[in-house]
Amino acid sequence: MRPLTLPELLRRNRVMVVCSASVAYVLYAVLTAMVDPPREGLMALSNPKNIAAFVALLTAATTLLRPQAVQGVYAVTSVGYLLVAMLEVPRAVAWGDMPMHLTLWLTLNVLVSYLVFGTRLGTAVNVVCALSIVVSLLMNGPVEPSNVADWITALIVMGGTGVIAFSVMRFIEQNLSVHLHTDARLRAARKDALTEVLGRSATEEELQRSIQQALNNRAPLSIIVTDIDHFKHVNDVHGHGTGDDVLRSFGKRLRRSVGGSGGQVGRWGGEEFLLILPGLARTDALAVAERLRAEVAGEPIAGLDITASFGVGSLRGAEDSAADLFARADSAMYNAKRSGRNAVR
Ligand code: GH3
Ligand code: MG
Ligand code: MG
Repeated sequence: MRPLTLPELLRRNRVMVVCSASVAYVLYAVLTAMVDPPREGLMALSNPKNIAAFVALLTAATTLLRPQAVQGVYAVTSVGYLLVAMLEVPRAVAWGDMPMHLTLWLTLNVLVSYLVFGTRLGTAVNVVCALSIVVSLLMNGPVEPSNVADWITALIVMGGTGVIAFSVMRFIEQNLSVHLHTDARLRAARKDALTEVLGRSATEEELQRSIQQALNNRAPLSIIVTDIDHFKHVNDVHGHGTGDDVLRSFGKRLRRSVGGSGGQVGRWGGEEFLLILPGLARTDALAVAERLRAEVAGEPIAGLDITASFGVGSLRGAEDSAADLFARADSAMYNAKRSGRNAVR
């Protein structure tokens, strides 16, 4: 199985964060209702805490069903929580005492927002949330001085948590960006600059890897060596620039024809290319080579009538080295050249 990329790992983490925070809130609502049953009976279902628990339950379920949409889901959740907080703050002010549970959940939400949305959107969401609470507090006064001190503490703790979460998230984002940049450069370095198929050393690496994989899976493996016929003539008559165009188009055609089936294409050198075909035994690889030969000969490449010769080699067993396999395919390709070119051997 393909290892997960860093962006995929980050998304997986975000799903984990949203689900655990949501489940924690539902658990809190259920447990506190059990130890301290609401006096309003069924009417309690419409109190802000229970509405928030319902939102959390929906959030957890939707995130598990659509993990790829975790940010969108939590954006909707955030709006829900904000509305609930707007209902809860005036109630909290009316009670007189500063409700610790509200502060704790708001603080947790600051963390979750940064992790889910990243630094930019996370800051926007958290600032909107904090401002709404402050405005709601100012509008719902007057409050006792001790109560004001509690709210100031709560807001400062939330702010401090926000700064820490922001810094951690920014570090993660910077790392991710450095990683993606390095990854793109490594990928580019594996490619042949002219034709964009794998370069020579990456081709050798992939051949080695494919042989090992075929041996491990006891699956067949074939390779095709192909070389453009009379390519020197193309350069001599049409110029090196046209020769380069032919190489580019030839490479593209090879890639298009085997790329989808898990095959790989590399430039071995000059106008000689190697196709690695995992899972294909000799008969199937001969058919692929024949199809390619007919395609190349049948359609102009970069405006010129081009043909190529093909040699097929198939893995024989554990004692067969990459060099042996390549030598067989290469010598088959030379047989095709000797037989008059535009042929498969
Ligand atoms: P054959 O049918 O026997 O393969 O004949 P050929 O002319 O294709 O064979 P040869 O190997 O003698 O010629 C290959 C030519 O490919 C020689 C070289 O100048 C040219 N070549 C190698 N790399 C490049 C490249 O990157 N661009 C261009 N335009 N030509 C290249
Ligand atoms: Mg040639
Ligand atoms: Mg050649």
